[in-house]
Amino acid sequence: MKLSVLFALALAAVSASSVAQAMVRPRIIVAISVDQFSADLFDEYRPLFKAGLHRLQSGVVFPAGYQSHAATETCPGHSTILTGSHPSRTGIIANEWYDQSLSRPDKKVYCAEDPSVPGSSSKNYTVSAQFLKAQTLGDRMKAANPKSRVISVAGKDRAAIMMGGHAIDQVWFWDGKSYVTLKGVDQPAPAIVDKVNSAVAAAMLKPDSPVLPEPCRSRSVPVAVADKSVGVLHARQAGDWQGFRTSLAFDRATTDIAIGLIRELHLGAGEAPDVLSIGLSATDYVGHTFGTEGAEMCAQLLGVDDNVGRILAALDATHQPYVVVLTADHGGHDLPERNKIHGVPDAARVDAALLPANMSKVLAAEFNLPEPVLLGVAPFGDIYLARGIPENLRARVLESAKARYLAQPQVAAVFTAGELRRLPAPTGPADEWSLAERFRASFDPERAGELIVALKTHITPIIDTSTYVATHGSAWNYDRKVPILFYQPGTPGFEQPLPVETVDILPTLAALIQLPIPSAEIDGRCLDLDAGSGDTCALEHR
Ligand SMILES: [Zn+2]
Repeated sequence: MKLSVLFALALAAVSASSVAQAMVRPRIIVAISVDQFSADLFDEYRPLFKAGLHRLQSGVVFPAGYQSHAATETCPGHSTILTGSHPSRTGIIANEWYDQSLSRPDKKVYCAEDPSVPGSSSKNYTVSAQFLKAQTLGDRMKAANPKSRVISVAGKDRAAIMMGGHAIDQVWFWDGKSYVTLKGVDQPAPAIVDKVNSAVAAAMLKPDSPVLPEPCRSRSVPVAVADKSVGVLHARQAGDWQGFRTSLAFDRATTDIAIGLIRELHLGAGEAPDVLSIGLSATDYVGHTFGTEGAEMCAQLLGVDDNVGRILAALDATHQPYVVVLTADHGGHDLPERNKIHGVPDAARVDAALLPANMSKVLAAEFNLPEPVLLGVAPFGDIYLARGIPENLRARVLESAKARYLAQPQVAAVFTAGELRRLPAPTGPADEWSLAERFRASFDPERAGELIVALKTHITPIIDTSTYVATHGSAWNYDRKVPILFYQPGTPGFEQPLPVETVDILPTLAALIQLPIPSAEIDGRCLDLDAGSGDTCALEHR
């Protein structure tokens, strides 16, 4: 009797405390994507974060989130974050792919373009979400209540579009010289956009000398790559617009616009919850241009920490309940030249024999066919048989191409579209998926090549290092693993080191605003963010 009374009292105390600490239904949902922010970089820099990325760690931390699919590029990655779906369902199989049925001369398409616009090409394109086959959180919120506002701001157009979706109220992205919106939108720009564009233009007239933060001192060591070196901060010259993208000023400007829109639009104060997605793109440009383990990345990530802190402060100032999720579109790893001297001697650049044009040449000679026989964006990923190859030769050309790729020592596997089509959608922990399952998750039969090529680990598919020295895009875990952090002020968090997926973000956020998501429409599952016995996924679990 006495014991059961005590037990009842204890239970009451537990449930009272979990009620007091439970997540509040948010009025503002903010999704931040830090481009190329790998789980490895998060782990390496966790102790150094003092601002926003420090504060987010008091929330729910999934240090092993997975962009589970093989095509770990920016567009596919961003397409998973707010759709709950792998690229196999979003249709965003890569940043660029081939569509030989196009009537325009350029048969390559860019993931966030509309190729039906006359005179467009994959390089000179009109930004559009029309290739995205899935609905985003914003699309679903808008359908549930048109009063919900969908705002998307990013350094890259593809980040803004893939997180924002088909029904964006405000979308702003960097076009190389200023922040712009979609063509044909003739509503006046918010004041903050003009203000940031003017400030950036003025700052670009002058050079910019970055200051090495003290914690980055030990990483400031030059490493030679061909005729240049990386690892040490360097000044940006006046008018160097490419240098702007790898400077702290880039993410700062994107953040300024996001914060300005929170204020100007009074996010959270409308009749329905609002969603804001923010793409901080500079980390990716820093990774590509300088690698991931030098002073450049150190300074950049401390800058991200600061920008996230400013976003949280702006959200606090709204006095509206909000929830933030922060993740990345893919991971990454260092340039081979530094990997080699940092304990990974097998790191290498890809062999030029694997370039699609070179593989194509060999096959053209073998079958006496005009070039190109093969089309491909890169020396890995989707490879397409040219449309003009006669029907009676196609099977033999495909077989020979597969054998020639497999004979290359840097190739790990080659799948045919037919092989991937027959595989069931992968299930189970993403870190244990087979290579074929990873490729299946970014396979769309309408858009895939006839062959899909996987390079071995530590092979960097960049030969010309004059601009970019390092990259991502592989099916290996250093490119797939990203942090996923959920945060609401005052709500206790926890850390879960077991793998979850970025496709879990959408159902998790939707449950917090009681927005039903039919599970058959997505690949992810709701993550229960309650640190105790409460269940923030009650809607899904009912
Ligand atoms: Zn990216």
